[in-house]
Amino acid sequence: MVVVVDTVSATPLRPRHPEKVNRPDALSPPKPDWIRVRAPNTRGYADTHKIVKENGLVTVCEEAGCPNIGECWDKKHATFMIMRDTCTRACAFCNVKTGMPGALDALEPEHVAEATFKLGLAHIVITSVDRDDLPDGGAEHFAKTIRAIRARCPTTTIEILTPDFLRKDGALEIVAAAKPDVFNHNLETVPSRYLSVRPGARYFHSIRLLQRVKEIDPTIFTKSGIMVGLGEERHEVLQVMDDLRSADVDFLTIGQYLQPTRKHHAVMRYVPPDEFQGYEKVAYTKGFLMVSASPLTRSSHHAGDDFAKLQAARAAKSR
Ligand code: SF4
Repeated sequence: MVVVVDTVSATPLRPRHPEKVNRPDALSPPKPDWIRVRAPNTRGYADTHKIVKENGLVTVCEEAGCPNIGECWDKKHATFMIMRDTCTRACAFCNVKTGMPGALDALEPEHVAEATFKLGLAHIVITSVDRDDLPDGGAEHFAKTIRAIRARCPTTTIEILTPDFLRKDGALEIVAAAKPDVFNHNLETVPSRYLSVRPGARYFHSIRLLQRVKEIDPTIFTKSGIMVGLGEERHEVLQVMDDLRSADVDFLTIGQYLQPTRKHHAVMRYVPPDEFQGYEKVAYTKGFLMVSASPLTRSSHHAGDDFAKLQAARAAKSR
């Protein structure tokens, strides 16, 4: 379990999540045996770690305490988190540090592109913290990063996982104009859980954001995901699927929520693997091109392989 007090960063003993420090502990049930992960101790993991550090990059794999890091980094799949390591929101599920982030690093887009090149990635996923402090929410920085990767690695396909750009008029258009191959924005949970899980966000704004991407450029694949185990009901998950299909979203991911620290939202339930399979079946019947639903599904897990399947599914549909 990740500690609440961060003793490794430059400012010793600064809490990772100051707003959560005085919250009572939220206790989750013990993990079931189907939540098993690979230990991060392989040669591939070490190589990925070296490239990430040499380029001074931040990854969501580390910051979010992702359970798949051993498997992904062994295959040199890392998801870069741009615009620094501190988020201006304070979602109840997320382990990314909260507070006021520093100024943007103008060289970061080139560093990300260089690391993508060194890792030899055919498909790269870029995400970011929320930057509510910036007038455009970081949209131009996203666009610059996409352009830098295109210039350095012309054959690499690019997937972005963005914040919601709430109250940042024109931001989405800037990012979409840079033409990522996949535009992902996660809903995270069902609408009834927003107030306690994702209080700074608005469910229908997020749905509309995804719909706008398709309106702007129908060739961009759209993707979204939710976590289960946060107290949602099955019928609410099915409603989310319908809402996403109304917004013409192509790809749905559903994974188990895992509690990063006792100060975060408790796991209300570990959803068994057969329920995930049930969700996957229903989602396909609702018309998604791709669905990934399993306890350890994360937005960027197997993103490269899934992108190839997504392309194949679109091609098959248009035949
Ligand atoms: S699933 Fe995504 S966030 Fe997790 S380790 Fe893999 S690439 Fe990183």
